[in-house]
Amino acid sequence: MTSSSQHDLIIVGGGPAGLCAAMYAGRGMLDSVLLERGLPGGELLNTDLVEDYPGFESILGRDLAQKMADHAKKFGADIRQENVESIEKRADGIFDVTTTRGDHFLAPAVILSAGGAPVKLEVPGEQEYAGRGVSYCAVCDGAFFKDEVLAVVGGGDAAVEEADYLTKYASKVYIIHRRDEFRASKLLQKRLFANPKIEVIWNKVVTEIKGQPAGVTELVLEDTATGDASTLPVGGVFVFIGFTPNSWLIKDHYEHDASGYVITDSTMQTSVPGLYAAGDLRVQVTRQITTAVGDATTAVIAIEKYLKERAQEPVREPA
Ligand SMILES: Cc1cc2nc3c(=O)[nH]c(=O)nc-3n(C[C@H](O)[C@H](O)[C@H](O)COP(=O)(O)OP(=O)(O)OC[C@H]3O[C@@H](n4cnc5c(N)ncnc54)[C@H](O)[C@@H]3O)c2cc1C
Repeated sequence: MTSSSQHDLIIVGGGPAGLCAAMYAGRGMLDSVLLERGLPGGELLNTDLVEDYPGFESILGRDLAQKMADHAKKFGADIRQENVESIEKRADGIFDVTTTRGDHFLAPAVILSAGGAPVKLEVPGEQEYAGRGVSYCAVCDGAFFKDEVLAVVGGGDAAVEEADYLTKYASKVYIIHRRDEFRASKLLQKRLFANPKIEVIWNKVVTEIKGQPAGVTELVLEDTATGDASTLPVGGVFVFIGFTPNSWLIKDHYEHDASGYVITDSTMQTSVPGLYAAGDLRVQVTRQITTAVGDATTAVIAIEKYLKERAQEPVREPA
């Protein structure tokens, strides 16, 4: 049986951004509901050690997820296991958040904090060594590879910028690109080519990631022109071939950048009034736990004000 319920605020996605939003909404005495398709925690559940979240010198991702969920619940968070299918604003200004079960959650404000997913290489060994040498985040994992030889895969801004960043820790960084030129901005390329620790491997793709129980030891490469195979010994590989934000859930027209990241103002409000975005799916400089919870904090405080102002407006009849 399907249901329909009315709230002040609906939070879509229960990663760090969503859990932080639920905690603030509870403290702000808002009637909110958090809809999460899996277990609360988001990408924290795929993270081994977190060593850059203030207050915790070193904590397992799943432990931090549990702490965030417990903290939100302590302030009354209503966390439901629901897979959201669409978010649509009705003519009366109320959002209708629909789930795959056919349930409808209605509210004048929504925070979309559904994150996204890095595009994978889809080669043997990638899943097996994820968190043991295969990474999608240089800021998160770079420090675990001090004095190691690393590989970065990709040719866009993210790959070129992160390869440069990783030389802070690594003794050498290979950047492997399937073409003979980068898509990255000229400025980033200039910095990359000037870095003596970086060597570019053109016209090659990774076809396999090999390792031992402790982690990655070697990549198998294939030449895109000749098909010749070769191997490259490395201690880790960072993959930057794209990221797919879960912004497609929004059915109204909303502003986004060329990669689909949601554009917001400084209060985290999107171009659709009442719809806010927080965390990894928002256009921003870096995607971290700290930035996700910061976005969520700003969004909830702004929503409290938005709801107050809205309550003072004359009531409009539903279309
Ligand atoms: C392997 C790895 C290691 C990392 N290590 C670190 C680190 O050490 N330090 C650091 O600061 N950052 C790290 N990061 C980045 C950090 O995890 C993210 O920046 C952070 O989790 C973003 O939080 P978020 O809430 O925006 O999104 P997410 O964590 O992605 O959470 C989004 C949530 O939305 C849910 N969702 C998606 N679609 C739907 C739907 N249709 N219906 C309902 N729910 C939905 C998902 O199930 C998920 O739980 C790491 C990332 C990865 C992948």
